[in-house]
Amino acid sequence: MFLFVFITLHVFSQVVVIRNVNVIPMNKEGVVPAQAVIVKNGKIETVADDKTINVPSGAKVIDGNGKFLVPGFFDMHAHFFYEQGENVNTCDKELKVMLANGLTSVRIECGDPVYLNVREQVNSKKITGPELTVASPQFVGAWPWGGKVFAEVVTTPAEAEAAVKRSKAAGYDEIKITFMIKRDVYEAIIKTAAKENIKVTGHVGPLVKLPAGLAAKQQIEHMDEFIDMLLPDTTYNHGQSVSDMNLWRRNAWATVPYLDENKIPALAKMVKDAGIYVTPTNYFFFSCFGTVSSDEDYKTKPDYRYIPAAILPERWSIKRRFADNAPPVESQKKYIYLRMKITKALWESGVPLMAGSDSPEWFLAQGFSIHDEIETFVKCGLSPWAALQTATVNPAKYLGVYSRKGSIEKGKNADFILLNKNPLDDIRNTRTISGIMQGSNWYDRQAIDELLKSALP
Ligand SMILES: [Zn+2]
Repeated sequence: MFLFVFITLHVFSQVVVIRNVNVIPMNKEGVVPAQAVIVKNGKIETVADDKTINVPSGAKVIDGNGKFLVPGFFDMHAHFFYEQGENVNTCDKELKVMLANGLTSVRIECGDPVYLNVREQVNSKKITGPELTVASPQFVGAWPWGGKVFAEVVTTPAEAEAAVKRSKAAGYDEIKITFMIKRDVYEAIIKTAAKENIKVTGHVGPLVKLPAGLAAKQQIEHMDEFIDMLLPDTTYNHGQSVSDMNLWRRNAWATVPYLDENKIPALAKMVKDAGIYVTPTNYFFFSCFGTVSSDEDYKTKPDYRYIPAAILPERWSIKRRFADNAPPVESQKKYIYLRMKITKALWESGVPLMAGSDSPEWFLAQGFSIHDEIETFVKCGLSPWAALQTATVNPAKYLGVYSRKGSIEKGKNADFILLNKNPLDDIRNTRTISGIMQGSNWYDRQAIDELLKSALP
């Protein structure tokens, strides 16, 4: 009730001015100090030297002195808990957690009719949350897990063609590929998607392999099969390295000592030449398959409180199963080292990278984990500026919404985050959120805390 009154008050005021703020516009590098940003009817009307502006009468004024304004963030790889085990629709709560963490745009990477409905409700402002892009139900070659099927199981080219058409007709924004897709089925997906004018995103499996994925210009998630390209050319087990579902197989880890980092520059050039966008989702892999996380590390993270109690036992049993039969520490370290090197090489080669958290897989919650992913880009060797691009400009361009989002410029949507500290000094400062503007809605810290509180399971 408190929140309702609060938001109503702030929507009522049609003009909002952030004064004396350091703007990190992202359409050019660096910080522009002492700016005023005037928002009218949910759009940025003016970005100018604070001394030169006239504050419209009746405007709500926010003091930005000492603070930093960045565009609202995108998470290009998120899921809802709905398909993660308990099949309870808590999407409205999860959207609040996303928004409270500065996410104003989120791509849901495994579609379901429930999510199309949620996307519609966000668009018509019936529920609060980031703007959603919803990929199709995941295309898989089989569904061996039982329970409700959150997928299009496609085993022949004809089934693939029909499923792509069905997804397009249902209103999904992209086609999502995950596991066990055969090569001829893959070709049919790509061909039909091109005809239907719908993008393809997702995994590249061992039956397809990277060269075919690049030739198809698929938008690749998780850097799937990239690591396979580091195997020696003479090896017998191409397609068997630590990528995709193989990560859970002990045999795949036996290939790690043979992976050759000298092959990374050629790999990066191949990806650059394909002209595709890549979402590494490194934080997920590092926290899942890294060696540093103790149980306490997970439990003390802010994410942990947002994981529904009903699915925690399953999460812990998966963790135990992997930990009990963990690969040699040296292999895990090398795996992470190589992923970091590949990520940096992709950036240096000019491959546009996008931030995706893969939350709420593993022990990650939406929103919180995007900051971990952005920070991980810097750990991989990207500059803080480049890391911010992965969550702003790059996804906005990929999704074709850069004319209204992804940077702070006159005429664009009022879609930005006010930070207490400069993220270009220390990327961890993306977490110092003092306020969020989404269209005509201004959330101050108190309103953000209310969003979080109301979203606890
Ligand atoms: Zn995912």
